Amino acid sequence: MKVTGKSITNGATITVAIEGSRIAAVTDGGDTDALGGPDVWIAPGFHDLQVNGYGGHDFNAGSWGLDTRVEPAEGFALLQRDLAGHGIALFCPTVITDSVEQMAANLRRIAKAVATDAQLRSGVTGIHLEGPFLSPVEGPRGAHPLEHVRGPDIPLFQRLQDAAEGLIRICTLAPELPGALALIEHLVAAGVVAAIGHTGANAKAIRDAVSAGATLSTHIGNGCHAAIPRHDSYIWEQLACDRLTATLIVDGHHIEPAEARVMVRAKRPERIALISDAVMLAGLPPGRYARGRFEVMPDGHIVLTGTPYLAGASALLDTCIVNAWRWTDMDLAQAVACATEVPARVLDLERKGRIAAGFDADLTLFRIAPDGPMEIIATIVGGRRSDGSDLSDLSESL
Ligand SMILES: [Zn+2]
Repeated sequence: MKVTGKSITNGATITVAIEGSRIAAVTDGGDTDALGGPDVWIAPGFHDLQVNGYGGHDFNAGSWGLDTRVEPAEGFALLQRDLAGHGIALFCPTVITDSVEQMAANLRRIAKAVATDAQLRSGVTGIHLEGPFLSPVEGPRGAHPLEHVRGPDIPLFQRLQDAAEGLIRICTLAPELPGALALIEHLVAAGVVAAIGHTGANAKAIRDAVSAGATLSTHIGNGCHAAIPRHDSYIWEQLACDRLTATLIVDGHHIEPAEARVMVRAKRPERIALISDAVMLAGLPPGRYARGRFEVMPDGHIVLTGTPYLAGASALLDTCIVNAWRWTDMDLAQAVACATEVPARVLDLERKGRIAAGFDADLTLFRIAPDGPMEIIATIVGGRRSDGSDLSDLSESL
């Protein structure tokens, strides 16, 4: 397969030759027989470090009190196709706080699907474990259920990692909890990214976590108190620390455009990873779900019915990249790098995040008008097209 278009890094017209799952060659100039065209941008495949679910499919069985209508393994394949329809080639299925048994079952289900589905194996770059080692305090805890949050526990982490067959690559935890520093050291020694999130830590606890090896801040600005001290703040400390890369949900609902602008200035683009944090109701047609408990609004954002409270994220990286480009000082190439190069660096993936011979053939082709949305032309995962979906028939069944 060949694809052609404008390189996202410098705007030059290139043709990318793909053999098997790798990029065989990148040459200057166009190719009229190749997929793409002169007005199409070619980027490394978009890479989302935090996806809970999408389009009625869920990596967290039962967390919405809803049944998905297909077997999970088939659902994961559909979920992957839906994500690819928005340009996401690579992603980290995210398992959130639940009973230990349910979390282990969810991890086993993902591991089994990845083991049996080659396309899923090409797209999943690791599991993100967000919980149960999170702050029990209202605000920092976010939507994680209080009855299931727990203190850091290395044997419990190991039990979950065993259920995941070693696929957990990111663990988000609250570093102020007793035992957190030992868990961070354990994670880092095991090659797992220790991420700070859903925390009420003071600044010193953030510094201690970084000294122990934490390298990531999970959705900074969310999973926070409504009001925080103006000096001793976990947000300032994480923004100021150059050893932490921060993930951001730039969907227009989770943080304000001005917050995104300031955070990008503080961290610099090379330390910002855009994530969706999408949930299973994301992408479904507007309406009420789960016997009326949740409502998907006309603009796609999801609320607890009758309230302004967000019940999860819905915009995917195609939207978040465009928002980050328009709301911050970043140019389009930098915004795209925050969803390609940076996540590859976070997970230390040597053959991902760039378009070059020998790299994995994970590519996203898109068009964009100056004021319009991003139009995904194709999403290639491990050398194969992965995009295309129709969600229009799902509203009746959930
Ligand atoms: Zn979270």
